[in-house]
Amino acid sequence: MTTYSAVVTTGVYCRPGCGAKPLAENVRTFELAASAEAAGFRACLRCRPYRAAGPIAPGAPELVCRAVRLIIDGVLDTGTETSLGARLAVSPRHLRRIFNDHLGVTPDRLARSRRAHFARRLLDDTDLTAADVAFASGFASVRQFNRQMREVFRASPSQLRHRRRRTDRLVADGGLTMRLPFEPPFDWDAMAAFFADHAVPGVESVSDRVYRRTVSLDGAPGVLEVHPGGTDHLLLRAHLPYWEGLIHVAERAGRMVGTDVGTAVRGPGAWGPFEAAVQAIVAQECNDLGEARRQLDLMVRQFGPHVPGLTHGLTHLFPSAEVLGAGDLTDLDLPPATIKSLAALTAGVASGAIVLDHGVRQADLVASLTAVTGIEPATAHQIALRLGHREPDAASRADEGRGSADGKASSADTRFCAATDSVQSGDEPAQIGGSRVRI
Ligand SMILES: [Zn+2]
Repeated sequence: MTTYSAVVTTGVYCRPGCGAKPLAENVRTFELAASAEAAGFRACLRCRPYRAAGPIAPGAPELVCRAVRLIIDGVLDTGTETSLGARLAVSPRHLRRIFNDHLGVTPDRLARSRRAHFARRLLDDTDLTAADVAFASGFASVRQFNRQMREVFRASPSQLRHRRRRTDRLVADGGLTMRLPFEPPFDWDAMAAFFADHAVPGVESVSDRVYRRTVSLDGAPGVLEVHPGGTDHLLLRAHLPYWEGLIHVAERAGRMVGTDVGTAVRGPGAWGPFEAAVQAIVAQECNDLGEARRQLDLMVRQFGPHVPGLTHGLTHLFPSAEVLGAGDLTDLDLPPATIKSLAALTAGVASGAIVLDHGVRQADLVASLTAVTGIEPATAHQIALRLGHREPDAASRADEGRGSADGKASSADTRFCAATDSVQSGDEPAQIGGSRVRI
């Protein structure tokens, strides 16, 4: 786990392993870069902590974790601490207090720090203009961008751009390339093998160690490509209709491939929560991955918006809940149980009975999914896993279907790691566990 050390005599904070060796009595430690900044420290120019990956709320209570996930999703780009508190059914004062107690930073300050760090990475990695960087990073205005970059880094965006190193800038041949930092080690080939096995035809593909997929931003199509970069980062190349809110695209992409968490709980995530739920429901009634892919292929061709002109087998966007909900699924070659479950899922999403976002408690998400006819608890837990719920409970439950015959250790933590290892070694049919084909 990353622990940042700050030196009171210099006012600078560092990643672990940075060269300076200050006297112990002058050092304060912080779990988050944002907490060090909130305490008045600035990022070291040598080790550049804003470029490091680290779990965002290590060991914090569930409420804090849910709040942090919502902040990462962008609720404070336009919302306030009051509206965030309302989402979580607590007062903003209580929210600030538990944030300060556990993270040493307020929700607003954490959101500002993440935006500033992402912007700094874009200033390093890309040639986007300062205005583009501001809106790509979730700032409301260029003025706010300039002010907050000065607050965090004590320098203007143009001064920061000027300071980037020669090797920082990534040359993009079309699209925009940026780094997705991770905590090493990272077995990209195993992760890519999982995505290759589970790719939705027309929407996702893997070739030459590159994972590609179509994405929809407010209905406009885009393409993301993820491939190996270096010892501590993957590369994300984004082809998007606009750069506004890019920070959330990058966060989602990071969550999808597991760069957002430490190695102990790393596993394949999902780009779209609805897509992941549909995949799991289809797979539940299938005998093998090939059959699931064939059924998803038919679904995507019939209901997904066609995107012409793409390469690498990408042809469609995944259909939205609205489209699938309004569509006649009986034309597809799906078992009646699957059709019934999909109809219940789309109705549940439309009515709000099922909320597939990060403000929801894992147990509530699972309960709402199993209440939908035909979804088995193991499938619901798997959906929770791919949505980024990394609490040990999700892993152990998703693992239940595998039984204990494989002799894995019985604690939830160990079983999760065991399940993740199986995924990473590409073994079939382990995936993230379960009795039949798993997403
Ligand atoms: Zn340093």
